[in-house]
Amino acid sequence: MIELPTLYPHQIDHKDRTRSALARRGRVILNAPPGVGKTRMAKWILASSANRTPTTTQTGHSLFAVHRRGLVDNAIGSFGEEPVLPHGVIMSGEDTAYGRRTQVASIDSLLSWFIEDGHYHTKLTFDLIVYDECDSHHQTLAKFLKYHDARREEMGLHEAYLIGLSATPQAKGLADVYKEIVAGPTTQWLIDNKYLSPFTYFRATEGNLDKLVLRGGEFTKASEAEAMYGLSGALVRDWRKFAAGRPTVGFFPRRSHAKDAMAQLEAAGLRVEYVDGNTPDEKRRLIFGWLNDHDIDYLCNVQVVERGTDIPRIGCLQMCVTVASRRRWRQLIGRGSRCHPAKTDCIVLDHGGNINRRLGLFEDDPQWSLDITTKDPGEVGVRPTIECPKCQALYRGGLCRNCGYEPTPRERRAQGLQFDGSELKEVKREEKKTSVKSAESLMISSLYMAGRSGRTWRQCVGIFKSKCEEQGTPHRVPRTVTVDEHRYEMILYGSDDANRRVSVLYPFVNGEHGGEYLIPNTETIEAPY
Ligand SMILES: [Zn+2]
Repeated sequence: MIELPTLYPHQIDHKDRTRSALARRGRVILNAPPGVGKTRMAKWILASSANRTPTTTQTGHSLFAVHRRGLVDNAIGSFGEEPVLPHGVIMSGEDTAYGRRTQVASIDSLLSWFIEDGHYHTKLTFDLIVYDECDSHHQTLAKFLKYHDARREEMGLHEAYLIGLSATPQAKGLADVYKEIVAGPTTQWLIDNKYLSPFTYFRATEGNLDKLVLRGGEFTKASEAEAMYGLSGALVRDWRKFAAGRPTVGFFPRRSHAKDAMAQLEAAGLRVEYVDGNTPDEKRRLIFGWLNDHDIDYLCNVQVVERGTDIPRIGCLQMCVTVASRRRWRQLIGRGSRCHPAKTDCIVLDHGGNINRRLGLFEDDPQWSLDITTKDPGEVGVRPTIECPKCQALYRGGLCRNCGYEPTPRERRAQGLQFDGSELKEVKREEKKTSVKSAESLMISSLYMAGRSGRTWRQCVGIFKSKCEEQGTPHRVPRTVTVDEHRYEMILYGSDDANRRVSVLYPFVNGEHGGEYLIPNTETIEAPY
């Protein structure tokens, strides 16, 4: 018998609920935030599966599949820890051990080794497949499953059960593969119970965010690079102010930004390393180890420390990037979520205005759903945060979580917020009187618009109504409007004139007062002298 790893009570509950969902639906996603131990739960599930006596429709084999090489290493590392889960590895450069009941494989190796001319040509098939980071490359997995399960059917075997692991289960087409998401405890609960590290957020010096251009759900690389250009002086200053002494990962849009920052950080006396997509795996692992041992102070990175990177000691994430999708934002800040004896929390220094863009805090659990496949869950609405006027921390609620200061109602209103004793709320639109225009002024601008584009009175009323709706005010046409001290009567509902052109009815739109609807000024203005 293979010894099972010990699990926390919430992990036991989570894997049990995943099991019953699997029995009902066959293909499910085990969803938990980064740092909760999804791989450990998977190890328990695979070990337990390997201890079972296979039925007549089973082979007794199970598979842990991943979509990139680094994840194979993570799995081998985790399965090799005590208690060891014996396993074979299916990947180029590794010896195979097909006899082992648990196999670890990259999905690409499986496709190229096991499938030829549209046929799965080996006898080795799996009763249970666990797929890591299942919101990526799910089409590749679906392709493998199609051939794999066809082969199982030929052999009279039950189709494979599938568990996808994901912190952010949202991607187009995910619902074609999986039937249900099984969520664990809330992130806030995990933080409160010390399974995950708490976060403290600060709004740091921001780049030129007005330069950002949104395309296809992300900011363009060029606009992001431009927005974050020239920040390196500020980022060293902000790091010293908020996060000095913490092992830190800096996120940069481009190599040139990272190199600039690196020069400035080194000049300030920090021990700094750099990784990007070209850094060899071996060197990368070494550098991650140095940061985790606090042998270096700062790691500059360009799109490497994203998901699946496990460096528990990280005490600060310096975000010199601008993110548009809530899913990616969550993956990035999730790098700091692991607990470590030498840390009390993880600081997020936000230079990219990401939190103010409503991407949310790590403790906000998005409502993941297989029904929402294309929409970012950020659009579903994240509660606002306030910036502490004393210490720049971004937080929710009454007292600043970082320094204990309580902003005055006036300071809150300056940020468009109010606090009702339990929750921060945006100041409602009708309370911002200054930005709401009167019905009369909307009517006048509608008359000008309609008049100059040759439209009729009826069309003018349409323009007026949509202007009112836009600012949330009732769309009742005023009885009169005054332009340059000339008063005009508005046309009554149902009048024959409704289909006449505005430029004829109200010649003032062309700069000339007069017409049938001008109300003659009968009052004599009393001269003050
Ligand atoms: Zn504060």
